[in-house]
Amino acid sequence: MKSVELIVPCYNEEQMVEIFYEKTNAVVSEIEGYSFSFIFVDDGSRDQTIQKIKGLAAAHDNVKYLSFSRNFGKEAAMYAGLKMSTAERVAIMDADLQHPPELIEGMLKAIDEEGYDSCSARRVSREGEPKLRSAFSRLFYKFINKMSDIDLVDGAVDFRMMTRNMVNAIVSMPEVQRFSKGIFCWVGFKTKWIEFKNVERLIGESKWSFWSLFKYAIDGIVAFTTFPLRIATLIGTCVSSAAFIYLLFVLIKTLCFGKDVPGYSSTIIILLFIGGVIIMALGIIGEYLARMYMETKRRPIFITRETNIKEQDDESDKK
Ligand code: UDP
Ligand code: MG
Repeated sequence: MKSVELIVPCYNEEQMVEIFYEKTNAVVSEIEGYSFSFIFVDDGSRDQTIQKIKGLAAAHDNVKYLSFSRNFGKEAAMYAGLKMSTAERVAIMDADLQHPPELIEGMLKAIDEEGYDSCSARRVSREGEPKLRSAFSRLFYKFINKMSDIDLVDGAVDFRMMTRNMVNAIVSMPEVQRFSKGIFCWVGFKTKWIEFKNVERLIGESKWSFWSLFKYAIDGIVAFTTFPLRIATLIGTCVSSAAFIYLLFVLIKTLCFGKDVPGYSSTIIILLFIGGVIIMALGIIGEYLARMYMETKRRPIFITRETNIKEQDDESDKK
């Protein structure tokens, strides 16, 4: 009998955790040959989520939990869950039932019968999503796939079953600012993609705003490619070449036709243009510098407030 752990990041999901557990546990207990347990990671919720999770843990043996001292974000919650996991197969799934537990059986099959190292879900439709958001996310995938070594799959969600080996590889990546979608690709391994139709959130609402998605996209780009720095160099080179050509033009014109005093507007335009390019380049450098600064502090990715998970090999994450 193989052990499987399901990692569930929860932030303000008091209405969902119990429904999630009942539904998912009912589905997975039908699957033969595996024993399932849950690791709920309470990401510093402000509501009764942790009480609900503790209630579940008291009533069921297969519920483990870990709660953070504050909201560290879903990336930190996924990392914590993976780090605490010990099972041979580990999956990550959302608490809002947007990731159908019915897919789990197929995911395990992909690993144990078809020889994959991981199996991940992919939404086929972006139905119910604002048009502008879909357009931006398509643009993001185009950009990051062209400019980096990783190949992100459009529509991929954080619902993934992995082997112990792959989980160990992911946990061994030390970066503090984590972009899991990229990390899953970067570690390699053979992944099978299974498609599913977008499911609406049952209760509550998505914690993602347009602005937070935009920041997430910038994080992903900065974490996995340094191409924007090259764009800054390229634009700088183009602008200075253009300036040099213009200089030659003015020089020849003055030598042939004499001095020409008016030129106020062209001077201002060039000044503003070059100023803009310099500020943009500084901004791009700043994005990388800021991340380097944050990484060098080596702060923990999460801080545990309480947990019922006993053996931990890393002392630093203990409360
Ligand atoms: N989540 C989390 N920390 C956060 C935000 C979200 O652990 O800071 C969890 C949330 O409880 C849910 C999952 O991440 O289980 C996905 O969140 P959400 O449904 O808001 O995102 P979406 O489905 O819209 O991508
Ligand atoms: Mg959701």
